[in-house]
Amino acid sequence: MGKDNVVVLGGGIAGLTSALELAESGSQVFLVEKEAEVGGYAGKYCCKAQENCQKCGACFVAQVIDDVINHPNISVFNGLNIDSFQSTEGGFKANFVNDRGEKSGFDANAVVVATGFKPFDAEERQEYGYKVYNGIYTALDLDEMVREKGSFVDAFSNNPEKIAFIQCVGSRSDYPKQDYCCRVGCMYAVRMASMIREELPEAAIDIYYMDLQNFGKGFMEYKNDCITDKNINFILGRPAKTYFHPVSKKVILKHESPAEGQPNELEYDLVFLSIGSQPGEDTENIAEIFNLELNEDSFFESADSLNPGATSQKGIFVAGACTGPRDIAASMQQAKAVSLSVIDYLKKQAG
Ligand SMILES: Cc1cc2nc3c(=O)[nH]c(=O)nc-3n(C[C@H](O)[C@H](O)[C@H](O)COP(=O)(O)OP(=O)(O)OC[C@H]3O[C@@H](n4cnc5c(N)ncnc54)[C@H](O)[C@@H]3O)c2cc1C
Ligand code: SF4
Ligand code: SF4
Repeated sequence: MGKDNVVVLGGGIAGLTSALELAESGSQVFLVEKEAEVGGYAGKYCCKAQENCQKCGACFVAQVIDDVINHPNISVFNGLNIDSFQSTEGGFKANFVNDRGEKSGFDANAVVVATGFKPFDAEERQEYGYKVYNGIYTALDLDEMVREKGSFVDAFSNNPEKIAFIQCVGSRSDYPKQDYCCRVGCMYAVRMASMIREELPEAAIDIYYMDLQNFGKGFMEYKNDCITDKNINFILGRPAKTYFHPVSKKVILKHESPAEGQPNELEYDLVFLSIGSQPGEDTENIAEIFNLELNEDSFFESADSLNPGATSQKGIFVAGACTGPRDIAASMQQAKAVSLSVIDYLKKQAG
């Protein structure tokens, strides 16, 4: 009997992890990524280690990419978009098209959809002045700029003295309707604040939060260390708006403390918006092509918790952040569990 073929759609950390697990089990994997590079968002983050590793997970990606590219059972295809999908006698046929209109197709016994998420577009929260005022960035901008320049002070060379993070931007809110938690913003903001503290021992660093989500192991201890050892301030309450002061050239942040009930105006050199995640931009199109259901937050629905990643369509599985917000470690863990469901499915199909 020949090898089973599996198409993995999406080359982020979830798709890469899934591809590797399936290839290790003996399947022939076609990993199809629509962009020119694999890695997804996790491949864009900077290292936050100073003296110690801060366990952000970003460096897992390079190792997994290396393993995938060198695996004899995996073929990686970049720059392809899914065009159509049919059931065949032996399984499925997935057809793709590139940006020159050239078509290609793969026969598959199973498909793993791992097409990820879209970061919240901070311009939608106009009250925070993103892309309108100087000094306001998203956490994703911060990650990418530090990664490109090599350090925070090289990325932001204007000697900032006061820095703020605003949590839950585009998450846990009624407008735009997105009431779920992003599950990563608290942890990444604390890691980034810690990274900045190492480089700028004298700067004031304030984190404005509504609630702190304890998703990562040891998060509360880490946060308490940040307060006591690193002098990072946690301030309760989501700021109402920001504006740019034309004379001082600083960002002014309007904030009302829930305890004091008095509106305050505070000046900052830099404000970082801790954005959450939304369903990936191709989600609806892919749902239509594969006849998949979406959950109440418009991510892919996974039908059976005892059979991770299974969908309402036999042989089609979903993995990673396309099923809902999760961090890199959780995406990898879930993608491994999904691969076990696929292996089980393939065994049953083989009889
Ligand atoms: C601002 C921000 C900061 C974060 N920081 C951290 C952090 O420090 N640590 C941490 O653990 N987690 C962090 N996360 C979460 C982390 O980004 C995710 O856990 C991770 O990226 C999920 O991986 P994924 O493969 O599921 O999705 P993605 O990273 O979105 O990858 C999906 C891949 O699929 C491709 N794709 C999409 N559509 C198609 C299609 N139609 N056909 C083919 N390919 C397609 C995409 O191009 C992409 O390569 C952060 C999230 C945000 C929003
Ligand atoms: S886990 Fe994050 S902080 Fe630690 S070494 Fe890797 S990239 Fe750097
Ligand atoms: S993880 Fe933190 S920042 Fe993200 S939505 Fe939840 S509470 Fe807000």
